[in-house]
Amino acid sequence: MGINEIVDRGVFLDRDGVINELIYYVEHGVVDSPFAVEQVRLIPGVCEAINKFHELGFKVIIVSNQPGMAKGYLSQGVFDKIRKKMNDELAKEGASCDGEYYCFHHPAAKVARLKTNCECRKPKPGLLLQAAKDLNIDLSQSWMIGDGLTDVQAGKSAGCQTILLGRMKCELCYLMDEQDAHPDFIAPNLREAANLIKRHKTEFMEL
Ligand SMILES: [Mg+2]
Ligand SMILES: [Zn+2]
Repeated sequence: MGINEIVDRGVFLDRDGVINELIYYVEHGVVDSPFAVEQVRLIPGVCEAINKFHELGFKVIIVSNQPGMAKGYLSQGVFDKIRKKMNDELAKEGASCDGEYYCFHHPAAKVARLKTNCECRKPKPGLLLQAAKDLNIDLSQSWMIGDGLTDVQAGKSAGCQTILLGRMKCELCYLMDEQDAHPDFIAPNLREAANLIKRHKTEFMEL
């Protein structure tokens, strides 16, 4: 890499539970990704947060495990519609992402071509590494924000600072210890995570 080459910083975002609301499937008693386009709803403050990341000079990249197709819950067509709806909703408030990277694999997939122990399924850092290569991003100057410990693990493995979205619960503390997945910061939502990065960047630049 040449000395004059400009290297960008990135904010990597998990998708489900960070950008769009999770869905509670009553019949199965689980909270999971939306599997129908009507279920896609942005979490309040997300557009504002993404716009703030751009103002701060970060590229914004979605990095998301989407095993729904591998598990047979989701078709490519529905996945594409969900993506489009998300991007359309973001665009209504002038927000957009610079890249979207998805892992469609699952080690126990029903669909043969997606059944693999890939390098891109978080907690592995493959999606972040690929995005960094494609978009010329310095991972050590970048952030990973997600609502799962696998997001924290992927971010740490890639060399980013990490923010876990959620509330601190004892059971989570225990899992953080057990899985060695301690985030650098915890924030209740993406809006607050953006404020945190803004403060952090300002303080850092003042040094
Ligand atoms: Mg998530
Ligand atoms: Zn994968």
